[in-house]
Amino acid sequence: MTTLVWDYLPEYEKEREDILGAVEKVFSSGRLVLGDSVRGFEEEFAAYHGVKHCTGVDNGTNAIKLGLQALGVGPGDEVITVSNTAAPTVVAIDSVGATPVFVDVHADNYLMDVEQVAAAITPMTRCLLPVHLYGQCVDMAPLEALAARHDLPILEDCAQAHGARHHGRIAGSMGKAAAFSFYPTKVLGGYGDGGATITTDDEVDENLRRLRYYGMEKRYYVVQTPGHNSRLDEVHAEILRRKLGRLDAYIAGRRAVADRYQEALADTDLVLPRTVPGNEHVYYVYVVRHPRRDKIIEALRDYDISLNISYPWPVHTMTGFAHLGYLKGSLPVTEKLADEIFSLPMYPSLSRDVQDKVIDALREVLRTV
Ligand SMILES: *Cc1c(COP(=O)(O)O)cnc(C)c1O
Repeated sequence: MTTLVWDYLPEYEKEREDILGAVEKVFSSGRLVLGDSVRGFEEEFAAYHGVKHCTGVDNGTNAIKLGLQALGVGPGDEVITVSNTAAPTVVAIDSVGATPVFVDVHADNYLMDVEQVAAAITPMTRCLLPVHLYGQCVDMAPLEALAARHDLPILEDCAQAHGARHHGRIAGSMGKAAAFSFYPTKVLGGYGDGGATITTDDEVDENLRRLRYYGMEKRYYVVQTPGHNSRLDEVHAEILRRKLGRLDAYIAGRRAVADRYQEALADTDLVLPRTVPGNEHVYYVYVVRHPRRDKIIEALRDYDISLNISYPWPVHTMTGFAHLGYLKGSLPVTEKLADEIFSLPMYPSLSRDVQDKVIDALREVLRTV
């Protein structure tokens, strides 16, 4: 069987009864949309982060999109973020009519270079959108200082950072609002699409609840535009509720896999992930770096190992974002990383045998490329 970077089936095998129990509970409850499971999940997810509110939505992209709109971001506004991210971060900014403004990232940890943010702020800037990429947090203190000085809200993109901590604070509790995805591959992943936006601000939360429900305040009565139908499904919420109880165990499993890679590959010329001091990494993906990345991936196919690149194209160089006017060379670190990074298999139920197979194959390949 081909070894993949991610596979949910080993986990499903272990959790099958619980997952199917969640489906049965919802299907026999008499209520399929916005019922007890969504409400319960929202309360528990907010409590996990020590924030007041959580609004469940249909996916992570819309969690960002509605988050931006709930913060008052719209056409003509600028949002400062990174190009070194999953494209949906930028798709969400674009979809509210705002303009994404990119800063580069650090070469050693791939995260937003916060020192570049000050120079990117203009009178049109309306929001700062850090992405806690791969499972560890952006350097928040200087970003929070800038946000305070310029009176700008921070929206954290936490789609890759469920449970990550930064100087003791949990990802998602540091900004004015934070967006999460529960896409199946994520650190807290569902069995289909899902997302949530969390906040401690009452008004932002009221906006979020209306925006996901056609812009309605009460049934059939629209008070806010543009509205959306962006609800989290009951059945996904019930599954996520149960998995939330195991989130810390999933994270521990990911760290064990990462520790094993670290131990077995430290003496190779692969650049391994570096945890920034003060961060507690949750390893959404295990990203390594090598100048002959393409050759390595190709050679590993002979061992029936199929790796992934997160992400092969910087967002600012994509055709769909040509209108933003970024030239090649404008974000040199981001562009270089896209040519050299690749991801090793990473998920909590990855077996020792499969991981050993990957490590052995990789060590052999690295001797020849
Ligand atoms: C996955 C992801 C998203 C989008 O989430 P979806 O649920 O797939 O819409 C946004 N930002 C980042 C950083 C992601 O990794």
